[in-house]
Amino acid sequence: MGIPLASEARLGPLADRAPTVATLCSHSSLQIFHGARAEGLPTLGIAVGTPPRFYDAFPRARPDRFLSVARVSELPQAADALRDAGAVLVPHGSFVEYLGAEAFGRLDVPIFGNRAVLAWESDRRKEREWLESAGVSMPRRYEDASEVDGPVIVKYYGAKGGKGFYLAKNREALAEFRPTGPYVIQEYVLGTRYYMHFFYSPLSDRGYRVGHGSLELLGMDRRDEANIDELYKLGSEEELLKAGIRPTFVVTGNVPVVLRESLLGSAFDVAARIVERSIELFGGMVGPFCVEGIMTEELEFKVFEISTRIVAGTNLFISGSPYSDLMEPGLSTGRRIAQELRRGQAQGRLAEVVS
Ligand code: AMP
Repeated sequence: MGIPLASEARLGPLADRAPTVATLCSHSSLQIFHGARAEGLPTLGIAVGTPPRFYDAFPRARPDRFLSVARVSELPQAADALRDAGAVLVPHGSFVEYLGAEAFGRLDVPIFGNRAVLAWESDRRKEREWLESAGVSMPRRYEDASEVDGPVIVKYYGAKGGKGFYLAKNREALAEFRPTGPYVIQEYVLGTRYYMHFFYSPLSDRGYRVGHGSLELLGMDRRDEANIDELYKLGSEEELLKAGIRPTFVVTGNVPVVLRESLLGSAFDVAARIVERSIELFGGMVGPFCVEGIMTEELEFKVFEISTRIVAGTNLFISGSPYSDLMEPGLSTGRRIAQELRRGQAQGRLAEVVS
């Protein structure tokens, strides 16, 4: 038996009935509903205002029913209705961001995975503490600009993956940086980016064993980021700066990638360390998570971020990936979530995968 994450009271509404897979209609919800249907679980889409009409165009992913709220912030008021429906909320990036990590963590409705992870992921400092204490290599963080000895990326607090990152090739270039808020200076790692979609199952007793359960690799992508991806076409940095053009890292899409097979061992090693440390720190990260990093030319993987839930890059693999196909044909992350819920209930171990 593993670690219980939910009290009996929290699981009360799920006694003797199949959990209803519920999520906010956005991000990866079509995949989540599609996976739940494939596993025979009921589905409920939370819509802001009128349910989006385009769901009608995807009959295999349309939720069985919708629950509408006027604003995402009003979701806590719908907690009774969600519990009555036997809902288990599946967090995704937009769901947590729109509601706020704190409010999400306080929802009095069963949530898939360990809600304690929210506090560790939403604060960049705590996230670094977790990863570094797990022995994971990360881009160096400079406490002071005078220590800088190579290219750096300056990130404002809270500015996840977006505008406002500042790149400097060296200390001299960094001296021209005029901050407009609190920020961190990080080593700019040269190499190639990989976003690895893992899944940790505390229920599984086979495969790549970690903790009491096992670790699975379900897919891998690289994010398209505007305008940085195509910036080189416009000429040198000097010319760009003269024209007032600054790099931005706004995610606009995803492309599928695979890793050199000989590097899979170190990818699993990094993910396993992150899971093992999460078990020690807060009872474990359960379900999907994404390790986001850069493979250098020395073949060292440096992790700049983790997402502790399903990421939108998994939408590439609704009908399976080159990795998940080696476990089960047609296995998406959405479907894997539904399997975990179904197995948790069948084995009387829902408390280990729901919080
Ligand atoms: P983040 O908000 O930390 O997810 O970063 C957004 C994007 O910035 C990433 O997808 C990368 O393209 C880039 N990035 C972040 N940190 C680094 C780093 N230390 N070195 C190089 N690129 C980075």
